[in-house]
Amino acid sequence: MCLVYPNSYFVGMSNLGFQAVYHILNSLDYVVCERVFLPDAGDIREFDRTNTCLFSLESQRPLAEFDIIAFSISFEEDYLNILKIFDFAKIPFLSSERNKAKPLIMAGGVAVTLNPEPIADFFDLFAVGEGEEFIPEFLDAFRTAYHKARTKQGLLQALIAAAGVYIPSFYHISYQGNLIKEFKPANGSPEKIKSRKVKNLNAFPTPASNILTNETNFRNTYLLEVERGCGRGCRFCAAGFVYLPPRERGLQSLKDEVLEGMAATKKIGFVGAAVSEYSGLKPLCKTVIENAGELTLSSIRLDALDQDNLQLFKNGGYKTMTIAPEAGSERLRDVINKRISEKDIIMSTSLISKAGIQKLKLYFIIGLPTETIEDIETIVNLVLKIKTAMHGGLITVSINPFIPKPFTPFQWCGYEDMESLKNKMDIIKKGLKIEKGIKLSFLSLRQGYIQTLLSVGDRRVGKILLSAYAKGWKGALKNAAADADFYANRPRGFSEILPWDFIDTVIKKEYLLEEYERALKAQTTPPCNVGKCVRCGVCDI
Ligand code: SF4
Repeated sequence: MCLVYPNSYFVGMSNLGFQAVYHILNSLDYVVCERVFLPDAGDIREFDRTNTCLFSLESQRPLAEFDIIAFSISFEEDYLNILKIFDFAKIPFLSSERNKAKPLIMAGGVAVTLNPEPIADFFDLFAVGEGEEFIPEFLDAFRTAYHKARTKQGLLQALIAAAGVYIPSFYHISYQGNLIKEFKPANGSPEKIKSRKVKNLNAFPTPASNILTNETNFRNTYLLEVERGCGRGCRFCAAGFVYLPPRERGLQSLKDEVLEGMAATKKIGFVGAAVSEYSGLKPLCKTVIENAGELTLSSIRLDALDQDNLQLFKNGGYKTMTIAPEAGSERLRDVINKRISEKDIIMSTSLISKAGIQKLKLYFIIGLPTETIEDIETIVNLVLKIKTAMHGGLITVSINPFIPKPFTPFQWCGYEDMESLKNKMDIIKKGLKIEKGIKLSFLSLRQGYIQTLLSVGDRRVGKILLSAYAKGWKGALKNAAADADFYANRPRGFSEILPWDFIDTVIKKEYLLEEYERALKAQTTPPCNVGKCVRCGVCDI
């Protein structure tokens, strides 16, 4: 097998999910798994000059010669890179143009678990959901099928029954105008594809970075997953909903893992959608600090910042604290179910400052449902209040446009008109630009628009992607402006068939709609109460 990350080595090896899958695959005694990354610009010129096909890192075998090519896809921004990789490997883009059973080209990862449709035409098969149980089961089915099947069609047919497998060519889609009229399974395919979820994380080894390198965002850091899923229910957050229910790993085994990692490096990184919610966070951090290690946490919720935790983070080498109020006004924070008051934010900021941490990074989203200009002005006011509470130091304010994501209560929303977003950006720039000690950064609005198109688009978006690969996004969007706006800007109707409706994440669609309606009334919803709650449908108790 070849495991492909559709971005550079640096980005791919920063991804714990990619590293974990690589490890699982190579731990199977009948699998040899190698890796391919998107070549760097200099290497691409060399590939072109020498007319060389893209090859694997480990044995320099051409990509097209593997039995299975499996892409690990976390971000929609990497979709164009998939086409680049096909191109460099001299593999036809469309699954329908590849007739041989070998290589089978498949993809998994959170982006395709949310909505694989924009790239459906390029892949033979998708793996939907979490990998731990899926991978050995699927490869077992593949081994049997591969030796028997004479054609690619026969191979795919034999894999239909594997839980979590989605074969896009076995579904026929008809349209009424621009809307999906019918999403019809053929060849005996299931109507819904159940997204795989691991019930007991502790039954599987902790995903950890088994390869340490300087060439990642987390230089020589031993990353390990402490929990999966977040029960806070922020209504814009796909990672929060898709990984429900929140699941923790056992403290003792994590402590052992930490010590094992520390034999190789002093830097330990805890990964998860809600790391600061982990019930054993304090003793786990202490294990790192007592062994003179350095700590990184992939996410820290503002309400976890008490004096004790901050001291631990400081002792663990934290110099910058990142917090995400997301919205300026309390009303809008209730709309998104952030459930954090301005008083909490200011109090946490004072504690950060008192703990001697001098750098703060703040995340805000603009273009959220029901947002007004007043909400934008409160971002400016809130940042100024935070600055006062920090008593000096440096504050970086990162502003990102809201991108609607499948399987969230905001999946029906559109991306805000770019003129309106620009106006909102200008208000923030004007309000904060002369402030010393405040640095502003914005995600490009066009990039946000493209990400929306690729997040919520249907199978026809594949054509826009092909055109973007040939001419660049500017040319592609010029030619397909009306279609692209249809996907990106338009609020979707509640009775519409959504492109990702065929995936069963077990979260009830009615629950998402209920949450959306509560959002419009600025009503908050309490966090998950695992073991006592069945409201979203994920926990079967
Ligand atoms: S059923 Fe309740 S506890 Fe379980 S994931 Fe859904 S909201 Fe959370």
